[in-house]
Amino acid sequence: MAREHNFHQDERAPALPVDLKHENRKKVLTAFHRGEECTVADISNQTGISRLTVMRAIQHFISKGVLRSVGLGESSNMGGKKPERFAFADKRLTLCIALWPRSTRLSLRTITGMPVGETDFPSDLHRSLDAVFDDLAVHIDAFLQENKISRSRLYGVMLSTAGTVDAETGTLRYSVHSPEWGDCIPLRSYLEKIMGPLPALLVENAGKTAGRAALLRQEETQTGRALTVFTAWGVSACMVEDGAILNGPLSLVGEIGHMSIDPTDPELCPCGRHGCLERLVSPERLLRLLAEKPAPAGSPLAVMGNAFSYELLFTAAQAGDARAMELTDHLARCYADALHNVAVVYNPDHVVFQGSVGHACGYFDARLREAMSGFCYYPEGRAFGITYDPTDLLTLNADGGWYMLNEHYFSDPRLYQED
Ligand SMILES: [Zn+2]
Repeated sequence: MAREHNFHQDERAPALPVDLKHENRKKVLTAFHRGEECTVADISNQTGISRLTVMRAIQHFISKGVLRSVGLGESSNMGGKKPERFAFADKRLTLCIALWPRSTRLSLRTITGMPVGETDFPSDLHRSLDAVFDDLAVHIDAFLQENKISRSRLYGVMLSTAGTVDAETGTLRYSVHSPEWGDCIPLRSYLEKIMGPLPALLVENAGKTAGRAALLRQEETQTGRALTVFTAWGVSACMVEDGAILNGPLSLVGEIGHMSIDPTDPELCPCGRHGCLERLVSPERLLRLLAEKPAPAGSPLAVMGNAFSYELLFTAAQAGDARAMELTDHLARCYADALHNVAVVYNPDHVVFQGSVGHACGYFDARLREAMSGFCYYPEGRAFGITYDPTDLLTLNADGGWYMLNEHYFSDPRLYQED
């Protein structure tokens, strides 16, 4: 009942102790963090903080330029006084960069998440880091100009990329998608070189960035242990415990793409090992399996071409296409082994597939559950919840990147202190 002591607080009480004042201010500002418009009464009802304390906190944020009045709203009762409404006022913007193996996306949003602009361009990470960042700087300049945004409008930039990233220091530890860069690359410094010293310069692994989007979309991932599985040019996971992302000393937590599934597999993974999940379920592997035993004429897979479509595969399997079912069985077995191995170490409450496998249908799901069902420790029928999110991964990444910048903004202690 932590709320009680504020709820019944005497409105004529002297100023609150500093810590409690900051804590209350934080709760008040949180009511506005996704762009909401609120009255004092709305926030008081939501938080249990007295109206006077809410009003004082709002005045604090107005004096800092963080909140503004947006005029009078509708009164709640007949003839009642119309209450004043308030909204977030900081006009700065956030930029999320998906610097991914084949393409780069720039997504510009307000601090509270309103989309402002977006652009995609091809990228080649097999070049020197200087060349990649020179190219990135040119594209960012053109993109900002196109949207008539000066660099001084930016609050922060978030860069998402392949490989293991130490988000604390902004260091890329290593990426099999750009071995030319070497290891322990200070990506945050590169970002600062092209963007200047902005309040927020964040770097994170793509799977952990897209993984944060699940916190916005799937309520079941916000508490307990969730695992999001990023499936695209690589496979990785984001492990979230009560909303906090797990990393480990080498930022290896979540690198399930390099989990050994079949050590006898002849393909050498660029990570240096054999039988990694990422290689067994890769589009290259599926195209090879399809070439070794082609789909009969008339199968939707017969017209696949060189770009493997997981969406088409899952749809065909669901429709009963025999070759599609065989390849889906292979995928389900590989992912079942990986999820089983994850489960005995991490014991998640919920798993969310994103990207290619986010398109999986009932057939894949049934085979996945069947392949996991032999383990006696699982309660019957349910080891953990599984959902499939077919949303475009670059969109999930932009959501997750914005989420990180939004969190960074609202966790700055200076917001809650006197000037
Ligand atoms: Zn590997």
